[in-house]
Amino acid sequence: MDLFEYQGKQFFAEYGIAVSPGEAVETVDDAVAAADRLGYPVVVKAQVHVGGRGKAGGVKLASNTAEAREHAGNILGLDIKGHVVKHLWIEKASDIAEEYYASFTLDRSAKKHLGMLSAQGGVEIETVAETDPDAIAKIWVDPSVGLDEATIRAWVAAAKLNPDATEGAVELLGKLYTAFTEGDADLCEVNPMILTPEGRVHALDAKVSLDNNASFRHDWDAYDATQSRDEREQAAHDKGLQYVGLDGEVGVIANGAGLAMSTVDIVNQVGGRPANFLDIGGGANAEVMAGALEVINNDPKVKSIFINIFGGITKGEEVANGIVTALGRVTIDSPIVIRLDGTNAEEGRAILGRHESDMLISKPTMLEAARAAVELAK
Ligand code: GDP
Ligand code: MN
Repeated sequence: MDLFEYQGKQFFAEYGIAVSPGEAVETVDDAVAAADRLGYPVVVKAQVHVGGRGKAGGVKLASNTAEAREHAGNILGLDIKGHVVKHLWIEKASDIAEEYYASFTLDRSAKKHLGMLSAQGGVEIETVAETDPDAIAKIWVDPSVGLDEATIRAWVAAAKLNPDATEGAVELLGKLYTAFTEGDADLCEVNPMILTPEGRVHALDAKVSLDNNASFRHDWDAYDATQSRDEREQAAHDKGLQYVGLDGEVGVIANGAGLAMSTVDIVNQVGGRPANFLDIGGGANAEVMAGALEVINNDPKVKSIFINIFGGITKGEEVANGIVTALGRVTIDSPIVIRLDGTNAEEGRAILGRHESDMLISKPTMLEAARAAVELAK
């Protein structure tokens, strides 16, 4: 679950990380009232689940009531990379001497936590990684050992921050690691982490993603309540499907996250554009399949549907029967191309073969099925 910046800062504050005071609001009047209370200058900040808000005009300094009103009016309703701004965070402005980058995330292949620290903050870390990779100091932390102060100190030295920032950075990074681990986050990113002219180090931005699997150990209801999914995603979520909306024309249904990703890739590879990622999980029964087809069918951009199933524990004939039963329950507007392989695939294809038509086509390989689905979407 991704948090808004203001929630990320609440989360940080619980672990003692220094952040600026501020108020979350939803209207221009409330924004102005909050700014007046905080005292000028303030920063008016768009709250959306996407980075690069500053560049998109979603972060503005206001030095008086009139400017606060103007910026709040301009930023509310602004579309930032497809995310419409409904919440603002009004924050007491900070003086900045330097901007740094700090984050903890999980390096799955190393099976360790990865810390990244750079003296080049404020810009996107992907850009730094491309233009000046040596400017990012990385550490890998064994979760069963943890991170001690001496290691953090060496890390800060390697990142070549201003010596005035050393003590503050060591303290903040220690707390950030605690927040990351005890708080069950997948990502804790501070960009920028700033050094003020008075020599204090604090978090000026917060990007936090929490691990939903750990929600039972925390009280995250307040965060969850503000999660805004698009309609398609909400419908899929309600049906317990793993769905991510994309903006192409080929609807994708696959079993297993890996296969679903490969399916999205192959649609792209043969010149098509996937409308979504959808993983129906292990059991491709009629109910799950009907739900998945319904979600895809409700997407007006979809012109064809590619069902890619590899039968493992679920046998081919069960999958095929599931699809046929599902098609009896929901009316589908777009042609469907199915690739069915794995356990008892022959039996499954025989069942599908009896229902073949212009609207239901079976192909023996993933590549042929992808090509057919992409062709039908044109
Ligand atoms: P992002 O663009 O979505 O990453 O939003 P940030 O919160 O990181 O803000 C973008 C940039 O705005 C920062 O890198 C700062 O340069 C600037 N900024 C944000 N808050 C302040 C502030 O309190 N004072 C000053 N002077 N600049 C700020
Ligand atoms: Mn930022």
